[in-house]
Amino acid sequence: MQTTVIAIANQKGGVGKTTTAVNLAACLAEKRKEVLLVDLDPQANATSGLGLPKEAGASLYGALVGSAQALDLIQATGVNHLSVIPSEIDLAGAEVEIARGDHYLHRLRDVLAGVIASGRFDFIILDCSPSLGILTMNVLAAAHAVIIPLQAEYYALEGLSVMTRLIQQLNENAVNPGLYLEGIVMTMYDGRTNLSQQVVQEVVRHFGDKVYETLIPRNVRLSEAPSFGKPIITYNPLCTGAVAYRQLAREFLARRKEGAVDAEADGVGFKLKSPFDKTVQREAPAFISMAPGEEARHASL
Ligand code: ATP
Ligand code: MG
Repeated sequence: MQTTVIAIANQKGGVGKTTTAVNLAACLAEKRKEVLLVDLDPQANATSGLGLPKEAGASLYGALVGSAQALDLIQATGVNHLSVIPSEIDLAGAEVEIARGDHYLHRLRDVLAGVIASGRFDFIILDCSPSLGILTMNVLAAAHAVIIPLQAEYYALEGLSVMTRLIQQLNENAVNPGLYLEGIVMTMYDGRTNLSQQVVQEVVRHFGDKVYETLIPRNVRLSEAPSFGKPIITYNPLCTGAVAYRQLAREFLARRKEGAVDAEADGVGFKLKSPFDKTVQREAPAFISMAPGEEARHASL
């Protein structure tokens, strides 16, 4: 099967990267997609969020420094169709090790090549740390596409421009010419506050339909689930957080075309009621809507 590698990235801390990585991965697995979640944050929150211990030697560190094969590091989780390569604190050392070697930006890409070649997965989801260190740069160099979670709060847009400029740079300097923005997911949305609504409108004004129509609400169950080592659909399958992440998975698949069939089969319309004013001006910069392969044209813009 063809594998798509998706980075969940934002250099801002605490915006919902890990919550989105774990729960989007679990919801895609629930839809019978074969998913590998790779925890690339030494904090190992995705690892503990899936109920796995932080074990020395279990992380991708060995593969990144050339002493292990990524395929051998894959572990099953409590969720059918969802596998994981966990993290532990050793991964912090990978930054230094990688920086010393050649091709330091493409280590992860080379390591994942074997996993992709195995044809085992539809999606590899990469959870990043809140930094733009070498590991995160490796993630962005290895991914086909990026999902940026944004907390629906005042400073959201500021951090976003850092990420979009970075994608543009990685395209232009040929580190990852095909990398594109898959989507922006608004997290911890509180529909009762004007601020949340205004922030979403502002993000949509700049990025148009790159913003998922699915909004992830602030939901206490989502923050409790990791301490039980479970994704939200297992911990509390009917709470608003679980409903939202299921919708996000459906929208993600629908946007990638293949999801349209699933949605019909489920008897569930995947076209969600838009919270946005569709007449807002669309101002997405050119590279944002660039399809993979168009980088040559983009470079000359
Ligand atoms: P870091 O940058 O440290 O890796 P992160 O971007 O991965 O953080 P998370 O760990 O997913 O962010 O979320 C930060 C905190 O907010 C966590 O305690 C998490 O449980 C909580 N949280 C995330 N999303 C929601 C939500 N929709 N509702 C309520 N709490 C949430
Ligand atoms: Mg995290």
